[in-house]
Amino acid sequence: MSMELDVRRIREDFPILRRQVNGRPLVYLDSAATSQKPEAVLAAVDRYYRETNANVHRAIHTLGEQATEAYERARARVARFVGAGDPRGLIFVRNTTEAINLVAWGWARQNLKPGDEILLTEMEHHSNIVPWQLVARETGASLVYVRLTPDGELDWADFKAKLGRRTRIVAVAHVSNVLGTVNPVDAICSEAHRAGAVVLVDGAQSVPHMPVDVGAIGCDFLAFSGHKMLGPMGIGALWGRPEILEGTEPLFGGGEMIAEVFPDHSTWNELPWKFEAGTPNVAGAIGLEAAVEYLEGLGMEAVAAHERELSRYAYERLERVEGLRIYGPRPPEKSHAGVVTFNLLSVHPHDLSMILDQRAVAVRAGHHCAQPLMRWLDVPSTARASFYVYTLPEEIDILAEALEEAREYFSHVLLG
Ligand code: PMP
Repeated sequence: MSMELDVRRIREDFPILRRQVNGRPLVYLDSAATSQKPEAVLAAVDRYYRETNANVHRAIHTLGEQATEAYERARARVARFVGAGDPRGLIFVRNTTEAINLVAWGWARQNLKPGDEILLTEMEHHSNIVPWQLVARETGASLVYVRLTPDGELDWADFKAKLGRRTRIVAVAHVSNVLGTVNPVDAICSEAHRAGAVVLVDGAQSVPHMPVDVGAIGCDFLAFSGHKMLGPMGIGALWGRPEILEGTEPLFGGGEMIAEVFPDHSTWNELPWKFEAGTPNVAGAIGLEAAVEYLEGLGMEAVAAHERELSRYAYERLERVEGLRIYGPRPPEKSHAGVVTFNLLSVHPHDLSMILDQRAVAVRAGHHCAQPLMRWLDVPSTARASFYVYTLPEEIDILAEALEEAREYFSHVLLG
């Protein structure tokens, strides 16, 4: 079906997709939680440990220099991938959560005071809520949430009404991990800047799936995770405007982040090392570079088009499953990424997910780390299928058939 990507060819690059689960070929529909890894990424990490491993920025010996060079090359490549020409703004962290915490505990704690407002939306992941709650408690700033429209998009009028003189930072998901809604982050940035606020974009669900360019968006911070974009776990990035980062005190103290240390005080290293205390995840950064190279080889426009197509097909096919309630904006008319969230009858999504697992279909079930959004949907939890570069439309058929079987089974159980 997909004219954009040669999915069968791509699948050969992912060894895990050859696995069987419960005697059937794996149907992995949980890429929004974490993606699978291609050979190129596995090989890059393996090669680094076999051939180059040494600590970075310290040694003058050959391996140390090669490891440092490889780590800094990875930084420049990842920075370019998100449209940042200047790699000084790209700080390697563990994941999106750490990136957001770095902004909250670094920039926000130093800049917010009582009366200031942090503007969030009702569709945020817990990792873009809880750090702000903690920092609000510490600084006396308050949290304000932008409402959603009935079909799960950002309520623009409410955003404009709540953005004001007191707003110091807007922190917003580029793509919702539950509804698949794509937010107009470029328009959000221009409005926010006009109001004098900075903007953090949570790119956990956008950077892996569509072209993302910090210059075009106009954001001040962008957070994302390597493990959701074909890279290893334990590596992610915060991109920040160098001029803002320059004025921000480091969060962690230790080796590497200093220029000079005296008994009673220290001076800081330059960007980005000021924010990278201690030995970094060099293998992770190199794995992430390989992931970026793989995605660039496919082309991010093609990746996005493939997922849009899959979403459109998934809605069309799943809407025919009786008793299935699908949440969120409908593709393709509405902005939508490769995520479909649903409930079947009144079956608990955990039970549903267990039944699907017997057919080797892996979906997510639960609150998806978005409890305020679950309250807005007025459900305790949902099931979610999410797609990536290796997803075939046939896998959506398998999901739909498994749901139809589950409906048969549960309607007997529920109706007696
Ligand atoms: N934000 C969003 C929108 C996400 O989907 C996720 C991961 N589910 C996160 C933040 C947190 O990412 P991580 O667990 O890699 O820190």
